[in-house]
Amino acid sequence: MKRLTALFLCLLLVLSAVCASAAEFKFSIRNGDRNEKRLCITVDDCSNTEMLQNIFNLSQELGVPMTFFTLGYVLKDEDRELWRSIAESDCEIGNHTYWHESLPKLPRNEIIKTLDDTQIRLDEVLGYHYPMQVMRPPYGNTRIGNESNIHVVRSVEAAGYDHAILWDVSQTNPKKCLKAYKNGSILLFHTIEKDWLCLAEVLPVMKEEGYEFVTVSEMIGKEPVVISPLPAPEETQQPTEETEPQE
Ligand SMILES: [Zn+2]
Repeated sequence: MKRLTALFLCLLLVLSAVCASAAEFKFSIRNGDRNEKRLCITVDDCSNTEMLQNIFNLSQELGVPMTFFTLGYVLKDEDRELWRSIAESDCEIGNHTYWHESLPKLPRNEIIKTLDDTQIRLDEVLGYHYPMQVMRPPYGNTRIGNESNIHVVRSVEAAGYDHAILWDVSQTNPKKCLKAYKNGSILLFHTIEKDWLCLAEVLPVMKEEGYEFVTVSEMIGKEPVVISPLPAPEETQQPTEETEPQE
């Protein structure tokens, strides 16, 4: 009987380990459906405005929606028109934290804050509310070594994001890039000149091969982002003409 109980306990342990790793895989996404001829172009950091503009222009010229994972600190008021053009296009803006911190090193409240602060800063720059619904952890990192880090997962979820979007292709040499992707690939680029030139070379080839390009939200089955006005500032208590006492 004791043996049976021990066996049962072992089975439970194995089962829970399998479930835990399955849950984490579900949280971190490296690619979309391998049966669909779709690709996702993602562009991180957005710290170089000139390259951001060039890559966005390329996306619009070629009809290739892209997902821009921006940092909070790079969002500048003087770039408002560019950010509005992106927000109102077929592209998507995602959250890449405020300062590019490695999330496993941060406590829960700071993980939530760095994601929240980026959302607040984006809304300030845009002048309206653009609720980011996808996030990418800096360095693609939600772990320390091989240890799964459940506190990162729980904190990112508490900030309102149900997945960490990673990638399966990080290759900015055009020849190597053209060999690296397959159905459902999520490709990683940055706002640097080499990456812009690579995109200019590989995107027309991918289009010719019949690939469809989608945002991260579309790849993972979310509705597109819906923009809304910022809440109006609190009304001041000064009396209006109507309420002023009449003589
Ligand atoms: Zn980054």
